[in-house]
Amino acid sequence: MKSQLLYINGEFAEASSAAVLDVIDPATTEVIARVPDGTAADAGRAVKAARAAFDHGSWKDATAQDRGRVLFKLAQIVRDRATELAELETRNSGKPIVEAEFDIADVATCFEYYGGLATKIQGDVLPVPDNAMSLALREPIGVAGQIIPWNYPLLMAAWKLAPALCAGCTAVLKPAEQTPLTILALASSFADAGLPPGVVNIITGRGETAGAAIVEHSDVDKIAFTGSVEVGKIIMRAAAATLKKISLELGGKSPNIFFADADFETAVEGALFGVFFNQGEICSAGSRILVQRPIYRKFLDAMVEKARTIKLGPGIDRDTKMGPLISREQLDRVQTYQAIGKTEAKVALGGGRPSGGALDRGYFIEPTIFYDVDNSARIAREEIFGPVACVMPFDDEADAIRIANDTYYGLAAAVWTRDIFRAMRTVKNLRAGIVWVNHMQPTYVEAPWGGYKQSGIGRELGKWGVEEYLNVKQVYINLSEEPINWY
Ligand code: NAP
Ligand code: MG
Repeated sequence: MKSQLLYINGEFAEASSAAVLDVIDPATTEVIARVPDGTAADAGRAVKAARAAFDHGSWKDATAQDRGRVLFKLAQIVRDRATELAELETRNSGKPIVEAEFDIADVATCFEYYGGLATKIQGDVLPVPDNAMSLALREPIGVAGQIIPWNYPLLMAAWKLAPALCAGCTAVLKPAEQTPLTILALASSFADAGLPPGVVNIITGRGETAGAAIVEHSDVDKIAFTGSVEVGKIIMRAAAATLKKISLELGGKSPNIFFADADFETAVEGALFGVFFNQGEICSAGSRILVQRPIYRKFLDAMVEKARTIKLGPGIDRDTKMGPLISREQLDRVQTYQAIGKTEAKVALGGGRPSGGALDRGYFIEPTIFYDVDNSARIAREEIFGPVACVMPFDDEADAIRIANDTYYGLAAAVWTRDIFRAMRTVKNLRAGIVWVNHMQPTYVEAPWGGYKQSGIGRELGKWGVEEYLNVKQVYINLSEEPINWY
């Protein structure tokens, strides 16, 4: 199988070394593609192209309308290629095809949103106490290095590229080593969308090599990262050497809180959807399910009963509701937590691997529900990033808030109740960047996404997302022709 290529300076390019990475279909474990194991030298070539495109290229002179049109064109191309991209996403990431189709539609919507926002980035004229004009200009920060994970491959690429292009930046993006295929496929349409050479560059490869080289490069002005807390901390330290602006979207251990008065059937569905969607490989997974004591047992039983009906299988089958995990490594990781959980809590469902037919081939794992979990247990404190739910009881509102906030993370949270006073008090008291009431997981490109505490720094999406790619320049224009006469 011939290796795919890197995408540098507007064309597909050979890597500096012949080393390749196998790309696997996690539903079958078959190798479906090979991509270059990009080196620091490759990252350097990409940064050079991005730097030149930012400093001298036609992108520098592109108007906001021009940039908006490129983003709209990109969106249209994604919509035209949606079937192909969704299938490729499912083959590469394992996720159910129905979820992949939603992702690809969201990719297009993200490009459209930032296409529209490009013409709304504006500065300020400040009232100053002199015969002078004071301006605050908003300018693109420069070359953005973007490093993304494998759980939403093309969507994470869009969340990074769209605001960067909206602001007028250029970019070097490194997809996760497991999931480079959809962004490479889309790169074949970059020129058709009107992106000049060098504006977007794609370097496949590993984090420790290609990723680290992007973070360390002195010609990169900003790093946007989504992934684990551990790597987020490494990136923050590495970025300090050149004092780059950084935005980090890290993990979570998000509480999903169910008061006894919640609409029961919907709540049970919401508990399962919150943690099992996308095989539980979601940063905002509602992995700690807090249930008020009067309904605790009934709720747990109903969760188990409904979870038994979740159809596991290859994502490409339209009736599949849960696909395989992304990799052998992730399967091992989740199995390790299943084993830890059995020593820390009780198992209500799952705890192993499913078998039979297609399930014997891929990285499938059973949706697993632990109950009577103490919030100090490792399965309640550490991000598992798989379909593992921790159900725990609570007494009252104060107890729920205390447990919910007792975590180093602060990405997301949800609360279910029909009492508006309690709902709003809980929203106010939760220390998390995203809070749902009577739902969990839906989000929109218009709304800010990001975490409190160790779940990250900065916000993606909406008007907040573009701020991460802008600098502010103060301009003082003297309007007085009087001599200054200080000395
Ligand atoms: P990760 O290690 O944090 O990787 C995320 C991205 O960062 C990947 O592109 C990775 O490259 C890259 N990277 C790794 N080390 C780097 C370094 N030193 N410098 C620059 N870039 C670097 O996440 P993962 O390996 O995919 O998954 C491990 C765990 O992270 C998961 O089990 C989960 O708990 C968590 N996670 C969280 C999220 C989230 O959205 N919050 C997403 C994914 C994973 P490689 O492709 O070589 O790994
Ligand atoms: Mg990794």
